[in-house]
Amino acid sequence: MKNQIVKSLSITLAIIAVFSVLSISFTATAANYTTNYRQYDTPENSGDYAYWNGSKVVRSSTTNVNEVKWMQAALNYCIANKGLSASKLDVDGSFGKATKATTTAFQKKYNLSADGKFGPGTIKKMKDVLNTTNPNSVSANTSNNSKITTYKLVWPVKDVTTISGMYGKDGGSTHYRPLNTTNQRIHSGIDISAKGCAGKSILAVADGEVLFQDYTGARGNYVIIYHKNYNISSLYEHLNKVYVKKGDFVSASKVIGTLGKTGAASYKYTDHLHFGLMYGKATSVDYDIWKVGQSTKSFSPDARYNKSVVYSK
Ligand SMILES: [Zn+2]
Repeated sequence: MKNQIVKSLSITLAIIAVFSVLSISFTATAANYTTNYRQYDTPENSGDYAYWNGSKVVRSSTTNVNEVKWMQAALNYCIANKGLSASKLDVDGSFGKATKATTTAFQKKYNLSADGKFGPGTIKKMKDVLNTTNPNSVSANTSNNSKITTYKLVWPVKDVTTISGMYGKDGGSTHYRPLNTTNQRIHSGIDISAKGCAGKSILAVADGEVLFQDYTGARGNYVIIYHKNYNISSLYEHLNKVYVKKGDFVSASKVIGTLGKTGAASYKYTDHLHFGLMYGKATSVDYDIWKVGQSTKSFSPDARYNKSVVYSK
């Protein structure tokens, strides 16, 4: 009898012990179904992607775990607030089967190619749906610039404000090389163009030193200026006339040349300024064009989408 009591007591204790362990481990790995995507790094419309390849998560070299969490939390937000019918996700930064399934549901809802991969097109659509921009783009991309939140620049073309070619994978009508899915090239700047823009003054966007002034078949006459105060470089392509040379120091608003169509701008399209911004000191032509998945020092000069950039006329 006594043995039986001891036995049942120890079984009870064992059961309690098992439950405590379960409860502890359950607490430690509790699922995180947050919809607050704002707490994570926002992926870029170009270069960032993540997907499940059947056995593990695949991320581009520029996509970190916090950006995958953004994707998952944003999907949860859509389930909670945008009528997306799918399974809510554990926001763990690991893109698995469940995230693929919910991503696919999102893509179907918005008529995107439903491949379950959270790539540039899906990121862009998600931002449209969330109606967000990328407030983290500066700090997420470079440690050098992490303290700077706003670049106050002069708009680079006098009297012309139309952006005819978008930054990123979308490219645009005046981008000299049409984008396609084979080479996955990305437009690393914006094109500024409008009727009557030929010959308009091109202005330095901030104080700086002319790092390069040269001609290539693609860029035509181009100028790259390094802006030490911000630790960024600006690129101006296809100029007709050029009024500065390597080594010159220029002030913001200084007229550095005129808008033209030299280089590849004359191949198929028309007069425009290709204008790019890059973190740090430009040292390589690689800053011009890069491929999906490669890291880049370029960032969007389009103030409509990149709130880090503010222009005065
Ligand atoms: Zn361009």
